[in-house]
Amino acid sequence: MIEILRADITALKVDAIVNAANNSLLGGGGVDGAIHRAAGPELLEFNRTLGGCGTGQVKLSPGFSLPARWIIHTVGPIWHGGEKGEAELLGKCYRNSFQLALTHDIKTIAFPGISTGIYGYPKESAAKIALTVMQQYEAQLILIISCCFSMEDVDIYSRELEKLRQ
Ligand code: ADP
Repeated sequence: MIEILRADITALKVDAIVNAANNSLLGGGGVDGAIHRAAGPELLEFNRTLGGCGTGQVKLSPGFSLPARWIIHTVGPIWHGGEKGEAELLGKCYRNSFQLALTHDIKTIAFPGISTGIYGYPKESAAKIALTVMQQYEAQLILIISCCFSMEDVDIYSRELEKLRQ
């Protein structure tokens, strides 16, 4: 089941939340900063051992002080106008997150709008990619939450999901 929810992702009690991280995995602004604050300083200490993360790739950490058991860190593409493989890379973030989830018995997962904040990816196109991949894995998980930070984002994601369901 796919659910579109307006929430702070750090408050969700799911098996895993996905972090829109940067290549260093050492914290940053936006959702990444919120996750580091809520998980506590152990997260930074742990992530120092991971050796960073390539764009479109994923790395796993415990959730530490979060209600979620795991954090899947992924690095979305920076939007450069759409001709630099952004769509392919964004799709990879979601697919690789699901592949990692399936090998760790993760049945409930929440995603933020990867790349749609500081990285500038247009929200409608990002939502379409995110929800398309979510649909491909829907049958293999119990719950997939598309976690929106604003009601405006809830509207965008709901409209895109409705289009895909038609
Ligand atoms: P990126 O650098 O990949 O663009 P951002 O963190 O800047 O990542 O933004 C990604 C999305 O996460 C944006 O839609 C932003 O509104 C949202 N966001 C920011 N903080 C939170 C939070 N605490 N919970 C859920 N979503 C959040």
